[in-house]
Parts: sequence; structure tokens; C-alpha cells
Amino acid sequence: GECDDSNAHEEKIFVSVRLRPLNEKELLRNEVSDWECINNTTMIFKNSLQERTMLPTAYAFDRVFGCDCPTKQVYEEAAKKVALSVLSGINSSIFAYGQTSSGKTYTMSGVTECAVDDIYDYIDKHREREFVLKFSAMEIYNESVRDLLSTDSTPLRLLDDPERGTIIEKLAEVTLRDSDHLMELLTVCEAQRQIGETTLNEMSSRSHQILRLIVESSAREYLGAANSSALTASVNFIDLAGSECASQTSSAGTRLKEGCHINRSLLTLGTVIRKLSKGRNGHVPYRDSKLTRILQNCLGGNARTAVICTMSPAHSHVEKSRNTLLFASCAK
Ligand code: ADP
Ligand code: MG
Repeated sequence: GECDDSNAHEEKIFVSVRLRPLNEKELLRNEVSDWECINNTTMIFKNSLQERTMLPTAYAFDRVFGCDCPTKQVYEEAAKKVALSVLSGINSSIFAYGQTSSGKTYTMSGVTECAVDDIYDYIDKHREREFVLKFSAMEIYNESVRDLLSTDSTPLRLLDDPERGTIIEKLAEVTLRDSDHLMELLTVCEAQRQIGETTLNEMSSRSHQILRLIVESSAREYLGAANSSALTASVNFIDLAGSECASQTSSAGTRLKEGCHINRSLLTLGTVIRKLSKGRNGHVPYRDSKLTRILQNCLGGNARTAVICTMSPAHSHVEKSRNTLLFASCAK
């Protein structure tokens, strides 16, 4: 079935790239799209002749999505399998990575909704097991963690538990009544994020949002099910800070001009993902940032990971788009 475990041996990170359409502003400036998907897995740079560049013109990933591809399809082909592994007790993380305005929030909110629908659909169809779903939401800004389900903006502390790993002290964990309840909470999170945006300029482009769904299940005794094991796992939906916040190619001066200081969580995530994609030998620096500490159990090891890189097609963004593709290539 859709949640079976036939790929348990596969530890590779699933990397996809999604191109958004040109927006109104870009169209008014007569911008043209630089990029095109020539098949399911290859993105090409169309202006290579004019650019007279030595840079690569074709990039291959597990999956690429053109500008008219609906979010539902992005979910189905790039995130569904990873998201639904939570039902078999396997932790997972789904990231949206890309420059500000490339479509991270648009993509991740759609993907989250599709996943929630599928998870509840699965639960409805599997009455032989009893499921309990819990939800938490947090934001990391400037290496400080805040609960998005609480109006208290006091930074949360991370604690180490020898058995459970990193614990976020005092983080709200709400037991869900149904999918409508979850949708309500997602609206609360969105509102919390927006409060942040008005009080702190550009906060949304510099902060990471983690939505965590915890799925616990056990066999209902009266059915005498063969598989009586209790399972617990989390699926994390992560809307990352704008990738321009981790630009290693531009000088410190450029970074400041863009209103971005070095984003430790984003830089460390890049390092962790590169290390994981190269195999599990050697030290993985999970402890170097709040984001990677929080996600340690849901990234690498037996956990499943999908990275959806979002990209603007506009020529004025070509350098940032190339940086995004470079990140995506290293994650593969
Ligand atoms: P980010 O979170 O990366 O800063 P957003 O998700 O806010 O970017 O997207 C920027 C704008 O572009 C929003 O108005 C959003 O609705 C629109 N947008 C992004 N991706 C798409 C898409 N694939 N199709 C249509 N509109 C999109
Ligand atoms: Mg956003």
C-alpha cells in the first residue's frame, strides 16, 4: 500500500525543485523565464548562449516541477511517501528551501494540507488500529525558539534527554480532535507568524517554521490484531528562512545589504544535509544549531527526508536560483 515499508533501506534524501510562475511585477518588467523543465527530472537554463557562461546548463534531481504544476502533484510525487511514513512509525522531515518570494510558504502550506488529508484518510480506513495525533508548532528566529501555539514569546530552552533526544521545554503539544481542529491550529500559527512580521521587519524571511505532527498508534485489542506493537513517530513540515540568508558566495557586505545576518540554523542544515547525502560516515554536526538539534531524530538515521527547493524563474534572480540548484545538487 501507500504506506508500506518496502523502501526502508533507502536512506537517500528525496530532492525536488519547483519553479514558480513569473508574478505580476516580473511580467510588468518584461522579465522572461530563464528556466525550463525538459522532463520529470531535468531543469535547463535557457539563456546559456547569451550568458556566455561556463556554468552548467542542465541540472538533474529526483523530480522537477514546472511553473504550471499544481501543489497537489508536487505533494504526490515529492512529499507523500516521506510524510506517510509517520504512519508506520518512521520519523520524517519535509523542507521547503529557496530564496524569499520563491514559493516556500505557498508550497509548504499546500503540502501540509494534502498530508493531513491523507493521514486522516488513512486513519479512517484502518479501524484495526487506534490513532492519537498531537500537534506542535515553533519558529526559530536568530537561534531563538518560540512556540507558535502560545502568545507568550519567551524563548524556549532545548534540553537533552538520554532517551528521547532533544526536548523543547514548555512547547505546547495539542492532542487533536479531528482534521478541522488541526486546520484551526494552522490558522493560529499563521496569525502568530504575522504578528512577528509586523513587529520585526523581514522576520518571516529570516525565520524557520517547524510544524510537527506526532502520530501514536496501537492495535485495538478486541480485533485481536496480529501486529499489536505500539508506534510513535513525528512528521515535520519545515518552511525555512530565505536561502539568501545562507549565501556563502556573497561577501558580508552583500549579506547586510540584503538584510540578512549569517543564519546559523540554515548554514548548519546545509552542512548536515550534505553529510547525510554522502553516506553516514563521519561526524554530523546536529548540535551546531537549534534547527538541526530539534530535528536530529527526524533527519538522518532511519528517518525519511524530502527537500523541495523552490525557485523563481526570473532572470533578475538567476544568481540566487543557481545557488538554490547548487544546494539541491549537494543534497542529492
Ligand atoms: P516565500 O515563502 O518563499 O517567500 P511565497 O510562498 O510567499 O514565497 O510566494 C511568493 C508569492 O508567489 C506569493 O504571493 C505566492 O502566492 C506566489 N506563488 C508562489 N509559488 C507559486 C506557484 N507555484 N503558483 C502560483 N503562485 C505562487
Ligand atoms: Mg514565506
